[in-house]
Amino acid sequence: MYGTGLAKGLRLTLRHFVESYIDDLRYGFRKYHHSTDNFGIRQGTQTKGVITVQYPDEKIAVPERFRFVPFLIVEDDDHPTRSGKDWCTSCGICAKVCPPQCIWIVRGNDPDTGRPVPEPEGFFIDIDICMNCGYCAEYCPFDAIKMDHDYELASYDRTSHHIHDKEKLSKPNSYWRSIAPTRAYDEMLVRGTWEHKDAAKEARRGSASSRASSPQPAAQQAASAAAAETAAVSAAVEAETVATAATAEGATPWSEDDAKREERRRKALERKAKRAARGG
Ligand code: SF4
Ligand code: SF4
Repeated sequence: MYGTGLAKGLRLTLRHFVESYIDDLRYGFRKYHHSTDNFGIRQGTQTKGVITVQYPDEKIAVPERFRFVPFLIVEDDDHPTRSGKDWCTSCGICAKVCPPQCIWIVRGNDPDTGRPVPEPEGFFIDIDICMNCGYCAEYCPFDAIKMDHDYELASYDRTSHHIHDKEKLSKPNSYWRSIAPTRAYDEMLVRGTWEHKDAAKEARRGSASSRASSPQPAAQQAASAAAAETAAVSAAVEAETVATAATAEGATPWSEDDAKREERRRKALERKAKRAARGG
């Protein structure tokens, strides 16, 4: 029948309208009090009716996988050895894969030698061109660039405010862990450490070299030398015993496997000689 869909739609709208008032009565208008505590009630799963979010006083929490303009991870200020250091090694992969090509990287150089160092001197993203695809974050081999949750970036001057430089892009690692705890944890499992890949590698290298260079205590050295000598003497005695037993029985000291191997070798040499003769 014509108009059934329309009637159904209007009924639904009416139901939401009525439920809004019932909800007001149920919560005693507490939900209209603009405080953070009441926002949970206003936007709770039990809430029914038509809801208006009073933005910007109230904001709906974004899901963890929400992605907006990228940012660069730097080490937290309280990091014991790498405070404020970039995770980015300026490898340039993100700039290469970025579809609209809105990333510019200036690689750092060692001031003494002039040779490139694995740190970006400059990093720029034009956020008006960025389409928030997240490719840069997906491809970065050092987990150094991540998609942000901060979507309030409007301004009156696009030239000075919408080209994000390194200073604006850099955010501490703890920030990433706070906005995306599950993803940060998964990445840590893949990396095998909460630390930057290179920092973890350096730490491993450092501990290995300190182990190698640390002097062995004299008593331990003497004990190892004695153990090695004993093992050598036992091996020599065992070998001599086997040889003596074999000679006493009149048997060849070779095992059957050795004989077979020698036979195969002889035949292979014969075949090789024949091939060489044919070729000549
Ligand atoms: S953010 Fe990642 S992919 Fe981009 S230059 Fe830095 S290390 Fe390379
Ligand atoms: S999110 Fe996409 S468009 Fe934006 S900088 Fe990264 S790769 Fe480029």
